[in-house]
Amino acid sequence: MSVIVVGAGPTGLILAGDLAEAGTDVTLLEKRAEESNLTRAFALHARTLELFDMRGIADEIVDQGFEVSRVRVTMGGREVALDLRHPESRFRYVLTVAQARTEALLQRRAERLGVRIRRGAEVVGLDQDEDGVTLTVRSRTGSHTERAAYVVGTDGAHSAVRSLLGVGFSGRSYDTHILLADVRPERELPPAINPYVGPDGLALLPPYGDGWYRAIVWDRSLEDVPLDQPVSREELNDSLGRITDGEVSVAEMSWSTRFLSERRQADHYRVGRVLLAGDAAHVHSPMGAMGMNTGIQDAANLAWKLVAQERGWAPDWLLDTYEDERHPVGRQTLRVTDFIQRMAVAPGLVRAIRPHVVPRLVRVGRVSAAMRRLVSGLSVRYRRPEQVMDSASVGRRVDDLPLVHEGETTRLYELVDPTRFTLLDTTRVGASAEAARPWADRVRALRVVGDLPEGADALLVRPDGHVAWSAERPCAEQVRAALTAWTGTA
Ligand SMILES: Cc1cc2nc3c(=O)[nH]c(=O)nc-3n(C[C@H](O)[C@H](O)[C@H](O)COP(=O)(O)OP(=O)(O)OC[C@H]3O[C@@H](n4cnc5c(N)ncnc54)[C@H](O)[C@@H]3O)c2cc1C
Repeated sequence: MSVIVVGAGPTGLILAGDLAEAGTDVTLLEKRAEESNLTRAFALHARTLELFDMRGIADEIVDQGFEVSRVRVTMGGREVALDLRHPESRFRYVLTVAQARTEALLQRRAERLGVRIRRGAEVVGLDQDEDGVTLTVRSRTGSHTERAAYVVGTDGAHSAVRSLLGVGFSGRSYDTHILLADVRPERELPPAINPYVGPDGLALLPPYGDGWYRAIVWDRSLEDVPLDQPVSREELNDSLGRITDGEVSVAEMSWSTRFLSERRQADHYRVGRVLLAGDAAHVHSPMGAMGMNTGIQDAANLAWKLVAQERGWAPDWLLDTYEDERHPVGRQTLRVTDFIQRMAVAPGLVRAIRPHVVPRLVRVGRVSAAMRRLVSGLSVRYRRPEQVMDSASVGRRVDDLPLVHEGETTRLYELVDPTRFTLLDTTRVGASAEAARPWADRVRALRVVGDLPEGADALLVRPDGHVAWSAERPCAEQVRAALTAWTGTA
């Protein structure tokens, strides 16, 4: 059995890499013959970096990025600072790094793991039956068909896979288009995400750490400018001058574009043997820099479920939990980005009260912590499937706990395997790890020393780093029941 992933953006690349890591035969089809030179998303959030950490590739990207731990909002002559530091994560910041670098990292990993990447291969047709999916693929040499047991559409906002499935993409476009550019300002700005909120709109200037910044500008006065009109340095300077009250002007501009942001979500993430992830499943305002991050987190949720399905050990409800778990997260991402967008590019009344309300909101520790955790992806908790037993913290993200394994000091994220469950047993006799032996092809059982959450002695971690089950002094029967519920009979 095999899987075809359609679209080699960040979502498709990490998904294909995970599938290949588990030994699945995977082909990645990409319409573009050349690599993209567009730099789009500029930030990686803590949860994405944690997922990279579990795959041993976080340090490589952190070395290429710039750690930002503060949002400094300038609004109506006032400054408000929002602390982005995450006490609960090894990655206590937002990492600014161009999307092209993240894609290059994920592509190197996918190639190393044996993914077949075919460029210049555009999917134009799709048919599925009980046993598999047949794709029609157009390339320079003509059309041919390819067949696989499962297909995942990670082919972006204008997804052909989604259209061929007939799945609706409900939502709407925003009125104000966005100017996007990489710029070097005349004067250095603080090492923070720097939003400026003015009467005409909003400008966001996160730093790359080398004197260059990403400029993202919503300027209400440009609503009638055609989308295909190139962005000149003069136009950008004029917008920035008005919105930042003369504080920012651009000395150099390396790249720019103008695009209309949308707020849409696929009505379904799964139709039979075909699934949707990333921008093919949801698009929203770049406010909050959540697009690419949410796509990568979709892939981490889906990969192991597809592996389980393909290997034949998935309980019959498991693959459906992909939509059950990730559709609400996508919906919430749309809501959060929409809220920030509305506050920023707001109608007159909101604009008048905004300088008074926002600083107060930010000063309420609980509000800013909730916002920080939402945007970073750290607060995602999945509902317990009714087929598995209840226990403390089910569905929660597992902290990167310090542990000792085979006499070596380590961390939980170094032990988690993104393709298999991990069972941690802290008891002296190791009865849980022993009971898990028959599931060794799908569960990595380890005896460790350390404190597990909620005083548990046994912790079953899903391959995407969420709690599957935990217990204090469980008997072998309970361990077997938990493993059978999640991973089928041994
Ligand atoms: C101009 C712009 C600026 C952005 N800025 C930000 C930002 O600041 N922060 C942020 O978080 N997000 C931003 N985004 C969104 C972010 O880039 C996306 O969320 C992210 O790229 C999604 O990754 P993906 O892999 O799901 O899809 P994509 O990156 O879109 O990749 C889809 C891939 O599928 C390929 N493909 C399409 N159709 C087919 C087909 N029929 N057959 C085969 N291959 C196909 C495409 O060529 C493409 O390579 C921006 C997007 C745009 C357009």
